[in-house]
Amino acid sequence: MSQLFKGMEQIEEARQEMAGESFMAGLFLGNPDLNLLFPPDESDEEKQIGKEYCQKIEEFLKQQVDPDDIERIAKIPEHVLKGLLELGAFGMKIPKEYGGLGFSYTNYGRVLMLIASWSNILALTVAVPQSIGIAMPILLFGNEKQKKAFLPRVARKEISAFALTEPDTGSDAANIQTNAVLNALGTHFVVNGEKLWCTNG
Ligand SMILES: Cc1cc2nc3c(=O)[nH]c(=O)nc-3n(C[C@H](O)[C@H](O)[C@H](O)COP(=O)(O)OP(=O)(O)OC[C@H]3O[C@@H](n4cnc5c(N)ncnc54)[C@H](O)[C@@H]3O)c2cc1C
Repeated sequence: MSQLFKGMEQIEEARQEMAGESFMAGLFLGNPDLNLLFPPDESDEEKQIGKEYCQKIEEFLKQQVDPDDIERIAKIPEHVLKGLLELGAFGMKIPKEYGGLGFSYTNYGRVLMLIASWSNILALTVAVPQSIGIAMPILLFGNEKQKKAFLPRVARKEISAFALTEPDTGSDAANIQTNAVLNALGTHFVVNGEKLWCTNG
């Protein structure tokens, strides 16, 4: 088993440290705690920010996005991505000081619900870089220089990618073979490995 799935121990450890109740775990066990579904408290100001931004997005979707065309051509047109980048939709969770919109998670969810009601794949395209793209790791672990260099780029200009999968590693993320080693001068990390299936990569 340990050979098949080397990350299992880490997953079990993380489960022990879980901070709160899990709605999904309850659902799986047939006893969901519906109290966990209620949204967190939200100020009127936050609500208004979300409402106004949703109006802008709705207008954009109606005028610029043909969901059937996206399915037909199996591609999201460049002008749609560019328009959403300009509206800041790819930087909803990035603080304003780094070029993002600095939204609460509630507003972030509101906007994604709206986009998904128009085109599900477009909502995924907007959501994925903001969940597994580079913004969150840099916000959580980056230094100030990295934040200033990368966050404005992914908030308004470029869509970031995520490179987990390797020829021999998928679900078992702890088995990743790629490594980053600091060079002898201590100036750069040398990254060695093989990656595949990087969406937007
Ligand atoms: C549309 C799409 C976009 C993608 N974009 C990216 C991307 O941007 N970046 C990136 O890095 N990767 C990307 N991937 C790859 C994706 O992350 C991997 O496919 C995923 O992690 C699963 O890995 P795998 O394909 O190697 O399958 P495996 O991990 O080999 O799994 C194969 C099967 O075995 C099952 N399985 C695995 N382990 C266990 C276990 N311990 N117990 C029971 N069952 C198990 C799985 O559920 C699955 O059914 C993308 C994939 C798709 C389909």
